[in-house]
Amino acid sequence: MAKRVAVIGAGVHGIAAAKTFMEHSHDVAVFEGAEDLGGVWRPGNNYPGLQLQSTADIYSYCDSGGTPRHFARGTEHPPAAAVYTYLRDYAAEHGVTPLIRFRTKLVQARPTYDRNSSSGTGGVSGGEEAEEPAGATPTGWHLTLRRYTGPPGEPKDAGPWEEFDHNCDVLLICIGCFNVPKTPPFPGQSDFVAGGGVVVHSSQLQSLCGGRQAALEDVAVMDAALAADQKAAEERSGGKGKRGAGGGAGKPETHVTAAATSATTAAVVQNGGTSSAGGPGPQHARPGSAEAAVLAAASARLAQLVSGKRVVVVGNGKSGEDVAVLMADTRAAKSVTCLYKEPQWSVPYYLLGLVNFKYPLTTRLGDSITQKLHAPPGLLGWLHRAVGWSQWRLIERLVSYQHGRAKLGVVPTHAVERGLDCTLHAEPFGFFTAAHEGRLQLRQGQPVALGAGGRLQLDDGAEMQADLVVLATGWGRSLPFLPPDLASKIMQPDGTLQLHHGIYPYEIGGSSLFILGWNVGLFQALFADVAARWALEMVEGRLRVTKEQMLAYRTKLFAWADRCFIPRAAADIRRGCVAAYSYEHVDDMLKEMGADFKSLTMAEYLQLYMTPVNAALYGKAMRAINTGSSRSR
Ligand SMILES: Cc1cc2nc3c(=O)[nH]c(=O)nc-3n(C[C@H](O)[C@H](O)[C@H](O)COP(=O)(O)OP(=O)(O)OC[C@H]3O[C@@H](n4cnc5c(N)ncnc54)[C@H](O)[C@@H]3O)c2cc1C
Repeated sequence: MAKRVAVIGAGVHGIAAAKTFMEHSHDVAVFEGAEDLGGVWRPGNNYPGLQLQSTADIYSYCDSGGTPRHFARGTEHPPAAAVYTYLRDYAAEHGVTPLIRFRTKLVQARPTYDRNSSSGTGGVSGGEEAEEPAGATPTGWHLTLRRYTGPPGEPKDAGPWEEFDHNCDVLLICIGCFNVPKTPPFPGQSDFVAGGGVVVHSSQLQSLCGGRQAALEDVAVMDAALAADQKAAEERSGGKGKRGAGGGAGKPETHVTAAATSATTAAVVQNGGTSSAGGPGPQHARPGSAEAAVLAAASARLAQLVSGKRVVVVGNGKSGEDVAVLMADTRAAKSVTCLYKEPQWSVPYYLLGLVNFKYPLTTRLGDSITQKLHAPPGLLGWLHRAVGWSQWRLIERLVSYQHGRAKLGVVPTHAVERGLDCTLHAEPFGFFTAAHEGRLQLRQGQPVALGAGGRLQLDDGAEMQADLVVLATGWGRSLPFLPPDLASKIMQPDGTLQLHHGIYPYEIGGSSLFILGWNVGLFQALFADVAARWALEMVEGRLRVTKEQMLAYRTKLFAWADRCFIPRAAADIRRGCVAAYSYEHVDDMLKEMGADFKSLTMAEYLQLYMTPVNAALYGKAMRAINTGSSRSR
């Protein structure tokens, strides 16, 4: 029976969820708070110079037919504008875009109950609404949404808003975990700002560098390159090729054309992607490519922002290190300092400048040295750990040597494999070079107060001077629209999730509520497809995992996390990070759905193990799911 499905959020996960449920004939509505889709990759919603840290070949949905054509040009790590064009065109090609109501935020979700429903995990029952019977399981949701009715552009908190209601049988929350910037207020911050200082979260940096308009210029450059590729392909095939819908179908009205490209971008395009800031320009994109032009334009915008300033970046995660080196590479700042709590391991894109990190990190073969959630028992398990341990020691030494970590005093105190959590990231190009060359200062310490005259006080008592403070301090998570009693059944005060696979709220039960996108790992676009399919299987009543089985899984997972990882990483696993067991995570979901790799050919099977993650193979496995009858487990 077709269900009324509400998807909240139109990022990577919301798009996958809408497509999956729509393709199975459900009645889908998508509500997106912002003016455009893409979430993290939405133009204007990140920092200039952001690139995909995954390689282009692994960041695609299952049915994209390999590396998206949007990514196949100047770099293995497409800029945010290219990722946005992929998501935009994918949503349009799969009929998702017309379902999205933009500038529409979910503000309240109240459960509804079917008088005839039985509580417990699994199963579906249809929709008569009623008051909550004690201990019952929700069978639907009554949503209150707010549509921004102000002038075009991002909704303003102050409104004007128009409130309306919407009822659904299934609520798919796809709001991501990068929406609530953590911006701890510092004592003295108002004095710091009054004196001309600026404090900004890393995700809002674009707002100081031309905002969404500038980011849309990057999109226009990527679109122009895509169109040129298409034309060249058509010419090669003697004009017989058809223009793919991806060349711009369903673009939001806010989209700009290549002709609107700004003077800055145009200059760097002509320049072959050399930074106009006098710096070396991005070395990680092919000179002359659209990607190089976009990255150089970002560099030029950052140069303008930081010119003559003392910049302090707080945090050494992916965003912190990215922003710090991008700013240092402009050579326009007076100084750039990256403050960190403790040294972290990061992965070089090329180990010793030779081996692409995707081979050890994103192939099953490479992953065989990581600690396994489902480790073989006995001697075999011991041998696996011993071999893994020795290989990690080698990797640790090589990485330390390559980065010259000892010289900079940034050797982490924990073994690399014991800290595999969502803070582990690919080392931004040139980060350690900039540090060794003195363009970038690395300093342990946390700011505790700000003050007039650019004063920044650290937790060790030292003082620094800063004009611009960038907080790369991460994001928080919340479910402000759910009744507090239900929200507390999903997330404990310390952030520990009560979600099977980071998706299903087993303490609430039923099959009307799913959180998609809080299971953060290495292959997010693939995860989005698999998670959406898992939710679909649950909703259509084919997948029945009991609450006891889910609790047993949780007990095993948490015990493994405590045994194998440092406390920070173990806590991250409890909060839904699956980076340390990405393959087992995805395999366990497939297994529960009855999807297996038996339909793969021998060549595909080899590919599954030896080459970087190929979402198409997982798509093939999911297409083999028997949808004919209910399975019971
Ligand atoms: C800087 C950065 C770099 C990253 N790089 C990579 C990478 O290289 N590889 C990788 O695999 N992953 C990467 N990630 C992870 C990345 O977040 C995911 O790949 C993916 O984009 C997350 O998609 P999502 O749909 O879960 O969330 P989001 O992209 O955050 O989308 C959530 C959407 O929900 C909307 N929303 C929120 N609240 C409401 C509400 N109440 N009502 C309506 N709409 C709402 C938001 O506006 C947003 O559009 C990166 C993340 C960041 C922050």
